Amino acid sequence: MKIGIDIDDVLADSLPYYTRAFNQRFGLQIELADAAWRILDRCPWIPRQEAHDFFSELIEAGFFSSRPLLPGAKEAVESLAEDGHRLYIITGRAPQDEAITRSWLTHVGLLSRFEAVMHKAREPVGRHKSGAASELQLDVFIEDELAVATAVAETAIPVLLFDHPWNQGLLPGNVCRVRSWAEALIQIAHLNGGGGKERAGNNPV
Ligand SMILES: [Mg+2]
Repeated sequence: MKIGIDIDDVLADSLPYYTRAFNQRFGLQIELADAAWRILDRCPWIPRQEAHDFFSELIEAGFFSSRPLLPGAKEAVESLAEDGHRLYIITGRAPQDEAITRSWLTHVGLLSRFEAVMHKAREPVGRHKSGAASELQLDVFIEDELAVATAVAETAIPVLLFDHPWNQGLLPGNVCRVRSWAEALIQIAHLNGGGGKERAGNNPV
C-alpha cells in the first residue's frame, strides 16, 4: 500500500509543547482541546508579527529538532516499511524547515524508510495534503487535524485520525479514529484486505 504520514502529533509529540510555550509567552491558558497550529486565528488580539516572532524563535530554539517520538511510532514505521508498504511524509511544515525535518528523521533513524518528504508551499494545509495524497494515489493517510483529515477524505482516500483533544467531533465515513500506533497498524491491515502480517495487531491498545 501507499501510505501518507503526517509528522507533528502523528510521529512526533509537538502541539502540546507548542501550546504550552504559546500560553507562557502571551500569558494565556488555552486548553489543548482548543489548541491548533493556527492558534493566532483564535487569538486575533495578538499582533500577527508578535506571533510570527514567537514561532520563529521557537524553531530557532530547536523546537522541530528536539521533538520526542510518540509511543510506538518508530516501531510502526519500521514494521510498515519491512512489510513492503511505500511510505511518504506529508507535512504542513514550511519548505524552509525541510532541512530540519530531514535531520530530525535521520536522528530518529527513520529517514530511509520514506520515499519522499513533502512540505507545504503557500497553499492552505488541507489543500496541500489532499493534493499530495491524490497525486501520489495514496491508499491511506494518517493525520491528527480534523479539518485536514476531512479535506483528504473528500478525495475518497481513507484517513486514520490519531485521537487527540483538539480533533474531537463527527467524522466523515472514510475517516477512522485511532488511539495508538498499534490500532493504526490493525486498521492498515484491514484496509489491506486483512493480508498484512499484523505484527502489532495483537498488542493491547
Ligand atoms: Mg499534525
